[in-house]
Amino acid sequence: MTKADLLKSLPAVGTVLDAVNAQGIQHVKLAAIIRDVIAETRQRINAGETPCTDSESICHEVIRRCIPANQSITRVINATGVLLHTNLGRAVLSNSATDALIQAASTVDVEFDIKTGKRGDRHANVCALLQILTKAEAAAVVNNNAAATVLAVTVLGQGRDVILSRGEMVEIGGQFRMPDVIEASGCRLVGVGATNRTHAHDYTNAINDQTGCILRCHRSNFDMVGFVSDVSSVTLAEIAKAHNIPYGEDLGAGALIDFSRFGISGIRTVQNAVSDGADLIWFSGDKLIGGPQAGILVGSKHYIDACKRHPLMRALRPDKLTLAALEATLQEYVRMSEGNIPFIAALELSIDDLNDRATCILEECQVGNGICIDVVDTTCAIGAGAAPTVGVPSRAIRISEGGAQRIHDALLAGTVSVASQLKDGCLLIDMRSIQPADVDDLKSALREALSARSAETSQS
Ligand SMILES: *Cc1c(COP(=O)(O)O)cnc(C)c1O
Repeated sequence: MTKADLLKSLPAVGTVLDAVNAQGIQHVKLAAIIRDVIAETRQRINAGETPCTDSESICHEVIRRCIPANQSITRVINATGVLLHTNLGRAVLSNSATDALIQAASTVDVEFDIKTGKRGDRHANVCALLQILTKAEAAAVVNNNAAATVLAVTVLGQGRDVILSRGEMVEIGGQFRMPDVIEASGCRLVGVGATNRTHAHDYTNAINDQTGCILRCHRSNFDMVGFVSDVSSVTLAEIAKAHNIPYGEDLGAGALIDFSRFGISGIRTVQNAVSDGADLIWFSGDKLIGGPQAGILVGSKHYIDACKRHPLMRALRPDKLTLAALEATLQEYVRMSEGNIPFIAALELSIDDLNDRATCILEECQVGNGICIDVVDTTCAIGAGAAPTVGVPSRAIRISEGGAQRIHDALLAGTVSVASQLKDGCLLIDMRSIQPADVDDLKSALREALSARSAETSQS
């Protein structure tokens, strides 16, 4: 091919963009990367080389450049106003949990007894802490609460009928639906009650010789109000006991402290659930507990042992990193120093503290013409489907004029990515969901984004 033919064979930017998008690749600077690759290929052709010019080769090079060479998981400052943001990795680990993770990166005694030099129990340390904290007879840990749900339903249901209220046939997200989990565990779902109301006799009427267990599932990501009623955990535990079947409760978020101290009501603690008498209770490690992703099961020794012995346990068991970080997080609760856990620390901040953050971030900002910035009252969400109706008072830096969308995008594409919230045409940068160590970086990021925006507006 002649030089002219080669140049002519280069694909258009739009063609490559469509091809890259079709592969699900997303990058904030995608169009610029494509233009670079095409321009560089054109230069090589002009210099007498014969590079591949088909759109597939160009596409391949673009995708390679979209993936950073040094790391695939990149830091993002969470200024979204969602405290536990599932897409941003939920809970931020405490310093002690982070130290434990780093230590666990090397060889450690995760399943080794230093006293005897023999094989040890992977769960021993964490489970001892869980027993102290929750007063449960026994405990086990798996990779996340979805895994705990699968394991618990399999063990409790025994391939038989599983009774669940129609008001609790929840979809958690990511298409994880309680009825599907029950079916996938080889059990048969028996729905009882109506969507809004379920009574004790609905459960007792459904029990027969095919019944495997009674299940209760926290609604997590939605709430029901109005003409509603459900059966208390104490009653369900009694019904199950009277019929000699087990009763399990998927608690979802799993709080280890009383959240009313932060003015947040209606969050059931694990301790409450344990004293209400369920045979097995399971919950997440990275929701209200503020630890690493994990699924925690507590309950009677009989059913916890059955979980630990089940072949699924080997498939779902947590690695040393999870166990190290979880153990360090639980230690903070045992020592009553849970204020060291970033999620709890965020709830402890006063409005004055949040104002101080905003003042500090804004103090050296050069605000160009036509951009309007102020600090306003807002409401944070807990996130992670933990308490959908709870709002936590917060303060946010608001950009109400001067290209909220452009500044939002610039913050994402900046040296350090900042995720903020666009609402009613304004940009909100929340002061409670960021971490104390983020303040300086957020300050530079905002300065960078604003000066780029000012340069843009002064040009036009
Ligand atoms: C969040 C949640 C799950 C899934 O927990 P993960 O830790 O995200 O796997 C399961 N059940 C309920 C009720 C939940 O709220």
